[in-house]
Amino acid sequence: MAKQTYKKHLNKKNAKPISNEDKKEEIKIEAINYTDGITVGELANKINKNSGELIKLLFMLGKALTINSPLDDENVELICVEYGITPTKIDEEEEESLADTEIDNPDDLRQRAPIVTIMGHVDHGKTSILDAIRSSNVTSGEFGGITQHIGAYQVDVNGKKVTFLDTPGHEAFTAMRARGASVTDVSIIVVAADDGVMPQTREAIDHSKAAKVPMIVAVNKMDKPGANPDKVKNALSELDLMPEEWGGDTIYVNCSAKTGDGLQELLESILVVAEVKDLKANPSKLATGTVIEAKLDKGRGPVTTLLVQNGTLHQGDSIVVGACYGKVRKMTNDKGEEINEAPPSMPVEVIGLNDVPVAGDNFKVFADDKDARAVAQARNKTKIEKERKATSAMSLDDLSSQIASGDIKEVPVLVKADVQGTAEAVASSLSKIEVDGVKVNIIRQSAGSISESDVILASVSHAVIYGFNVRPNATVRKKAQEEGVEIRLHNIIYKAVEEMEAAMKGMLAPVFEEVVTGQAEVRKTYKVSKVGTIAGCMVTEGKIVKESGVRLIRDGIVIYTGKLGSLKRFENDAKEVVSGYECGMTIENFNDIKEGDIIEGYVDQEVKPE
Ligand code: GDP
Repeated sequence: MAKQTYKKHLNKKNAKPISNEDKKEEIKIEAINYTDGITVGELANKINKNSGELIKLLFMLGKALTINSPLDDENVELICVEYGITPTKIDEEEEESLADTEIDNPDDLRQRAPIVTIMGHVDHGKTSILDAIRSSNVTSGEFGGITQHIGAYQVDVNGKKVTFLDTPGHEAFTAMRARGASVTDVSIIVVAADDGVMPQTREAIDHSKAAKVPMIVAVNKMDKPGANPDKVKNALSELDLMPEEWGGDTIYVNCSAKTGDGLQELLESILVVAEVKDLKANPSKLATGTVIEAKLDKGRGPVTTLLVQNGTLHQGDSIVVGACYGKVRKMTNDKGEEINEAPPSMPVEVIGLNDVPVAGDNFKVFADDKDARAVAQARNKTKIEKERKATSAMSLDDLSSQIASGDIKEVPVLVKADVQGTAEAVASSLSKIEVDGVKVNIIRQSAGSISESDVILASVSHAVIYGFNVRPNATVRKKAQEEGVEIRLHNIIYKAVEEMEAAMKGMLAPVFEEVVTGQAEVRKTYKVSKVGTIAGCMVTEGKIVKESGVRLIRDGIVIYTGKLGSLKRFENDAKEVVSGYECGMTIENFNDIKEGDIIEGYVDQEVKPE
């Protein structure tokens, strides 16, 4: 029934299409990428202005152009300067290489599941709706009730599949869009019936409109005594979301995540909207799609959730993801089951990449392993070059004097953390710091251990590297020393913020500073009852001293920080053991030591204020 009304209104001549034309001033654009041959009309779109306005501007500058005229670099620059936008020209081939540019034969196209994002004001019930839909779709017992969070999941609705991105909120949606990824087919705007339309409700609607994604309104918390769905409808009608029953074309579903009422109807209305959009893909070609989530797992290495958007992804495929590459070694679905292939619209967790990509990155499967590697390497190079361009100079030690002399306007910082979420949180906290008009500029933020490529980027851009729960290995530390790159390691965000603020105010005067004395590699472990795990080690760098703090590092990630329990050379206690010698160590209150781990020793040393 809902289907008919929706279609009817959609076909109505006067039905208002979703348009961002009248909302143009609301979205502030600061920077754009463009490629050779961009036209006046295309640029207008990118910078969210009317082409007429641009044509007029160019005319005043003595240039008579039309909407379809290509612009040279100088003209792009002129226009962007006028609006305070920074344009960056990019190499089309490099940029496009992971996009699905092939035109599919209509005969190969098959229906695919709609991909849905849930947005709305905080506490209106986004997470509860996602959880309720998910748990009611896991047939009890079928998979032992195991649900695994991989950033997206699929459910069955009347024999058809619907894919949900389960990071609710428009921040994730916008971050993906900022990276050029458009994955969402339908957005659900959740409004609590007892609270009504709030600021983030409006934001969510603006974002959906800007992305031209059709919306369904879920009026949630209908079980609550103060529920007033008509008030919600009234308020949203003023934002172009006129309910069907009032003659508009927006589906409203009254529901309750708590009781489950209305959720089936909500799912069915997604199918209705999907049917109108006629979503199709070609399952019989190499896969392309987008990264939904990525993290560095202590045991498994880079773990990435990919959403297949076209083609079919197979185990063993050679794949380029952003600037990373590898083979799909293992693929699991949202229920934790290992699978061999993933058709369009299916989210899968993949292991086998050489590094951690970023959510919103595109991926593409290559028929040839060598091609994949070459494309990834080329992309990595351009990525570094682009990041390089976006930076200016600085270094933490003489930061305050540079600020005082007005030499720098921003402090470039590179953030690495064990998980993407932490990297984002650190980056966002640091970038909020402002001292005397000088700001922190995050030039890279990602999950993963600190790599040589991070050091190189930091070096060319004179950036400071901030590591959270990650440690550089010996090679990386040497490289950093050679290049004069400062690496600051923390595990508490506010401490990093305090330190950066102090440095920017010229008050960087820590009383104690941690000094790494050396590193040892665990060659063998022995379990001894009462003593715990003894690590047979080779000191590979510097020295390990008895009275030192230690960190256990596995694959570049700090697993444990504590104190050295004992240090022995053969049977005897040792005060210190230097590089090139073997020793036995225990860590106080910690036994999970494995072969291949690195034990790093450090001491706190007093530092005189400069
Ligand atoms: P989010 O911030 O939008 O993800 O909101 P949450 O899903 O975290 O929900 C916020 C609060 O509202 C939680 O305490 C939920 O238990 C509660 N809640 C969510 N949906 C309902 C509902 O349908 N009825 C009632 N009574 N409470 C709800």
